Amino acid sequence: MNKAELQQSTDGYSIATVGNLASFEGKAFVKDILGTTSVELSFGSLAPGCSVPFFHHHKQNEEVYVVLSGEGVFVLDGKEEPVSSGSIVRVAPSVSRNTRCTGNEPLVYVCIQGKAGSLEQYTMTDGVVEQ
Ligand code: ZN
Repeated sequence: MNKAELQQSTDGYSIATVGNLASFEGKAFVKDILGTTSVELSFGSLAPGCSVPFFHHHKQNEEVYVVLSGEGVFVLDGKEEPVSSGSIVRVAPSVSRNTRCTGNEPLVYVCIQGKAGSLEQYTMTDGVVEQ
């Protein structure tokens, strides 16, 4: 699979899948099918030796990449930073970025993007424990 598919949607929640991550290929954005209003989320997979086909930065959005499997390099403002399964990379909007798979297995990652500086409450200041 190389896209996300909506499985269920109600007023309160949405459930989608990108299938088995081990066989996921390409890039899939899920904001539209899930109906998110605070973040964009995408899944990406790069085959061995492949890079994202362009460098980019953002106008307002910070990105957080979570590497699920594989090994690779993030190129951040021209500096190469090695990553592997478990790596978490925050990138400020203005930073030029690209990602390359350097291992023998695909580099599979999740990218979460949200407006930089917009997080006003989280976890213990926003979560309400129900009895
Ligand atoms: Zn981006």
